[in-house]
Amino acid sequence: MTSGEPALRQDAGAGTPDTPARRAAAGLSIVMPVYNEAGGLEALHGRIVGVARTLRERWGLACEVVYVDDGSRDRSLEIATRLPADGLDVQVIALSRNFGKEAALLAGLEHARRGAVLFMDSDGQHPPSMVERLAGHWIEDGYDVVFTAKAHRKSESFLRRLFGRTFYTLINWGSRHKIPEDAGDFRLLSPRAAAALRQLPERNRFFKGLASWIGFRQLRIDYEPAAREHGTSSWNFGALLGLSIEGLTAFSVAPLRIASLLGLLLAATALFFGIYILIEVLVFGTDVPGYPSLVVGLMVLGGVQLVMIGVMGEYIAKILSETKGRPVYFVAEHSVKRADAAAPPR
Ligand code: UDP
Ligand code: MG
Repeated sequence: MTSGEPALRQDAGAGTPDTPARRAAAGLSIVMPVYNEAGGLEALHGRIVGVARTLRERWGLACEVVYVDDGSRDRSLEIATRLPADGLDVQVIALSRNFGKEAALLAGLEHARRGAVLFMDSDGQHPPSMVERLAGHWIEDGYDVVFTAKAHRKSESFLRRLFGRTFYTLINWGSRHKIPEDAGDFRLLSPRAAAALRQLPERNRFFKGLASWIGFRQLRIDYEPAAREHGTSSWNFGALLGLSIEGLTAFSVAPLRIASLLGLLLAATALFFGIYILIEVLVFGTDVPGYPSLVVGLMVLGGVQLVMIGVMGEYIAKILSETKGRPVYFVAEHSVKRADAAAPPR
């Protein structure tokens, strides 16, 4: 490779290079979504620079970091643009407004210029010290997707854990491909896995699900997420619920199946109840006190039907947003800083 000029990524179809040296030649893009992270960005970048140096020394791996500013309202963008390209390329992409983390991740994926792609939060919760280990599983062991999962959920409230459990049961129910529980967004994709992910056309992205769905050789690593260093998490219960509905409707038809099953169950009950009443009237000649049971029946049916219409509505809304075919994000500013000449990427 000529000095200073980074290798551009090779997209799918190139087959898998089978030696560590050939894998490392693809380089690595570290993608970080940034939303109001001004407080810790500089320090984090310092740690990334350190990690990049280690990777370069160990495998000759050239790195770039891609900061995707997701419409931050603080000075994140300004700080990101001033970060030094100290031994690694620095790309800064500013989205035109806040599009949400999933959109930011896609922007990073699509702009990544190296082969392998690593996703990482910019709030310090995904320890940069683990990057070397993740990269090792790709370069040396040949895994395509190295994803991390929370070792345990002790720090979370009972309700949140219950919610999480229900979510994964539902999303994996009856599906051929199971999405691993508790997997986070901190993951490394080999060049061919990253290329596969770029090929998925859907606009409603649920990254954890997609990255697992593409297959290839996947490896799970359990770890302890660090505490947030600055600012606050932008996920509240409502946002989580939104992402869950998003994930569920994007990945499974379980809610629709439940609707059908419930419908069948109710219809069967009604049938037996009807036969029972008929026998009562014809054989025993009893007067059927109909009013209360009628009202109860009506209300149950009405309620169930409304819920199921809502469930169907979720899927129709998804179809609508997919058919509109809007871009997932817009880029307002884009800058690339080449690695400093003093410390070339290779
Ligand atoms: N983030 C983003 N856009 C958003 C919300 C969050 O790009 O609308 C980024 C944020 O800067 C961080 C990552 O996504 O790097 C995870 O966000 P957060 O820490 O709020 O989520 P949590 O760690 O609680 O899941
Ligand atoms: Mg966080």
